[in-house]
Amino acid sequence: MAEAQQIPAQGQADLRGFRLISGHTIPSVGLGTWRSGPKASDAVFIAITEAGYRHVDTAAEYGVQEEVGHGLSAAMQAGIDRQDLFIASKIWCSDLAPDRVRTALKTTLQDLQLDYLDLYLIHWPFRLKEGAHKPPEAGEILDFDMEAVWREMEQLVKDGLVRDIGVCNFTLKKLDKLLRIAQTMPSVCQMEMHPGWRNDKMLEACKKNGIHVTAYSPLGSQDGGRDLIHDPTVTEVANKLNKTPGQVLVRWALQRGTSVIPKSTNSERIKENIQVFGWEIPEEDFRALNSIRDQRRVLDGEDIFVNKIHGPYRCAADLWDNED
Ligand code: NDP
Repeated sequence: MAEAQQIPAQGQADLRGFRLISGHTIPSVGLGTWRSGPKASDAVFIAITEAGYRHVDTAAEYGVQEEVGHGLSAAMQAGIDRQDLFIASKIWCSDLAPDRVRTALKTTLQDLQLDYLDLYLIHWPFRLKEGAHKPPEAGEILDFDMEAVWREMEQLVKDGLVRDIGVCNFTLKKLDKLLRIAQTMPSVCQMEMHPGWRNDKMLEACKKNGIHVTAYSPLGSQDGGRDLIHDPTVTEVANKLNKTPGQVLVRWALQRGTSVIPKSTNSERIKENIQVFGWEIPEEDFRALNSIRDQRRVLDGEDIFVNKIHGPYRCAADLWDNED
């Protein structure tokens, strides 16, 4: 199958967009909105109208979809066309049952004040009981019928409610299973990726199957994440290129053929993070960034899905099918 994500979309040179297997284009830099809180509305508006973003990433679980909706609606009132925007959201684990998928999407559309999504992703491949605790108590992890849920996601595409469907936080094993049952291919796989967690094997597997990858937490995430902004290799490359560490981290993701969704609610940093075109990280510096040691995930899902005593997942490695 074609390595779709490696080919810059037509008319969008310099990695500004990537062509998906569906034929649609995903703008390469999107605004992340996790933990954006009430500032999400202004952040989205500024990103679109002042900084030039055309891609916004959100999720039902972030609790900011209404704010994102206000920002989008204000941007459209300011003259931006809906068709020029790429809006991605995610279905939460408590809705991963076939009879809940459509209702979940409808609520998301309503909150976002949209009549279709560009991309609808499975947020995590685990089903939680409604109101599950963090970490989950006994019996709060339910069976996830991937095939039945995917059929419903496919139907959303057929009904024009969603243009592309995809997944997040998958393993090689789960991707393999999905590819065996899918009638509509997942266009996108969204994964944690940054120089401190390259996750090369998922990237390669996706490329091989024509699935585009979006890199989340590209700056090392927030609140207890990994401080890549002050990593010595990152700052050295940034100083050498006369760019900021944030720009180097975003550009690194683009040069790997992934789209990337840095989060910021600060207008200066929102603008900074998309100034990543018209220059590149030279080969030797790219290699240096690829050699950062201590490869590890920031977001391993343990706090949401692991119950050490009752299982079914007793440690983070169980969630990742022991592939790391
Ligand atoms: P990021 O790696 O994007 O880092 C965000 C943090 O970096 C914030 O504290 C932000 O603060 C700060 N920051 C932003 N720009 C700069 C800069 N130029 N210099 C210094 N600091 C900066 O973290 P996230 O974990 O939020 O990941 C990005 C997005 O990916 C999420 O918002 C979400 O949309 C998505 N995501 C998806 C997941 C999934 O399971 N599918 C999981 C996690 C994230 P400030 O706002 O003050 O600028």
